[in-house]
Amino acid sequence: MSETTPQRLETASCPRCCGSGRYSYCQTMNGRYGPETCFKCLGSGVIYTKRGIAAKALLNRAYSVPAKDVKVGDVVRMSGDRHFRTVESVGWDDENNWSSRAHNPDGTYRYYFRIRTTACDHGLLDDTPMIRVAQTGERKAFVAPLVAEYQALLTKAGREPKTKAKAARVAEIKAAIGVPAEWTP
Ligand SMILES: [Zn+2]
Repeated sequence: MSETTPQRLETASCPRCCGSGRYSYCQTMNGRYGPETCFKCLGSGVIYTKRGIAAKALLNRAYSVPAKDVKVGDVVRMSGDRHFRTVESVGWDDENNWSSRAHNPDGTYRYYFRIRTTACDHGLLDDTPMIRVAQTGERKAFVAPLVAEYQALLTKAGREPKTKAKAARVAEIKAAIGVPAEWTP
């Protein structure tokens, strides 16, 4: 039913379509019949287990930096964009340089923290959101097995282990891949 191989996020057969990727039902709201692509697994037939979801979150965290640490020339994948793009400019807008400003509840306004990529201009309300940065193959080869080990240490519910030895190893893994100790999936 489920599998864990080194350096892989744990998946299981999709319980909604029994791994077929298709889901049959009698009649939809719009009157169509027959098997449709399963929306739970998007037709792949597999879903991440709770451990897999948690490990994926750790991987994303290890591969992301706060917006304030993004630099011109970094290759990033912004929220809402499926592709990685090169950063052309980054920083706070000011009174000399803004095209739109966010309004505070009291009617005053604030400037955006702006990350402009080759594709799009992203205005963030502050400089704290985590931004996914493209990684070198070397870094991925270092991080992936540690994330797989983290996944294997998690409970079936995807929670971090409470036992002392396991919790200590989780802390070591986070430190090694640059994730704060207090981060949890
Ligand atoms: Zn499915």
